[in-house]
Amino acid sequence: MQEQFLSYYHSPPLSHAPSNLPHTPSRLGLYIHIPFCRSRCHFCAFYLQIYRVDRAQDYLTALFREIQLHAEQRTLGDRRLDTVYFGGGTPTTLQPSALCEILACIQSSFGLQPDAEISVEAHPDTVTTEGLSRLVNAGFSRISFGVQSLDDDELAGMGRTSLPDRTSTAVASARDAGFANMSLDLIFGLSRQTLKSWQSSLAQAIALNPTHLSCYALTVEEGTRLIVDIRRGDCAHPEDALQNAMEDEAVKQLTAAGFTRYEISNYCRPGYACRHNKLYWQGGEYLGLGPSAQSYVDGARFGNVEDLKPYQDLLAAGCLPIAERERLDPERRHREALVFGLRLTEGIPIDSIQASNLDADCKAKMAQLLNEGWLEETSGRMKLTASGRRFADSIAVELL
Ligand code: SF4
Repeated sequence: MQEQFLSYYHSPPLSHAPSNLPHTPSRLGLYIHIPFCRSRCHFCAFYLQIYRVDRAQDYLTALFREIQLHAEQRTLGDRRLDTVYFGGGTPTTLQPSALCEILACIQSSFGLQPDAEISVEAHPDTVTTEGLSRLVNAGFSRISFGVQSLDDDELAGMGRTSLPDRTSTAVASARDAGFANMSLDLIFGLSRQTLKSWQSSLAQAIALNPTHLSCYALTVEEGTRLIVDIRRGDCAHPEDALQNAMEDEAVKQLTAAGFTRYEISNYCRPGYACRHNKLYWQGGEYLGLGPSAQSYVDGARFGNVEDLKPYQDLLAAGCLPIAERERLDPERRHREALVFGLRLTEGIPIDSIQASNLDADCKAKMAQLLNEGWLEETSGRMKLTASGRRFADSIAVELL
């Protein structure tokens, strides 16, 4: 779900990606957006279509053409990929053979570093041990299950038909298949969710022994079934106080279980931070493939058209499906590097902030945020405070 990591770019138009402050060698990632799910969850605003065999075939034809065009145009030059991330949507709605074919095509077209991290997002209802074994044998090294909740009433409330048991079966299948690096995504603030049921979902998730957990606060988006239900009065808007208590509970339980909170929504066991997602926060470069995917390569940020139809039509005509391309000046890039870097718990070295070309206005805003207790300087690094983490999006808007 690349959107979660690029959310700051949704309000302003596409622009240059952040560079680290002032500069560190950039890593290179590839994101593939697979825009299919078996059904749409009530809160979900991502671009996707309901899976059908014919739709998947048309999409795959277009995706292979997109890979070929980027390879012919040498978009990535001679650089090999450090990370590949299959997101969506639900990549595992596609057959394992199709996912393996895409990865093989990426490998032959762009090349992979020997220790490249290859991640795939999965819905617990869409996997089998046999299918996952094929992925491991093809080189996939990390799986991220979109679990969201382990409470059957909450799952029903978000429009999912699967039962919590399905998650433990899927996790066992992934482990049997050889996935040692496994993440579970949870959401807090769901309708029908209480602090007690959230505590239980967290405890059950920890008991499944993943190496990584993402805990996202539910946001209510336009265009979703959820916002319609809220407006009708069929369910309530998530309460800030309850969501804050749930976030505190996640920090408490996960820390006690040996996880480190390395980013606002992400927790890992030592050595299991998601390398691909860190690349977004640390100013790495990435090529995005598939409808709505975003890219930052060689000083240019560009984004693909959102819908499948124009995506496929443009590729059939031999054109890359790029909708927007934009460059920003160095000052803006430094601001963006600051905003993204602050999402990481480790923050940003103060030396590098001082050495960068942040303008006086941005420096004054940082001083104000420090005085107001949203930012802090500790151990030579600038970080968000605990209060600041709750308002990271608003702070980002202030600093951009
Ligand atoms: S499975 Fe994930 S991507 Fe698909 S509709 Fe649900 S939340 Fe959205």
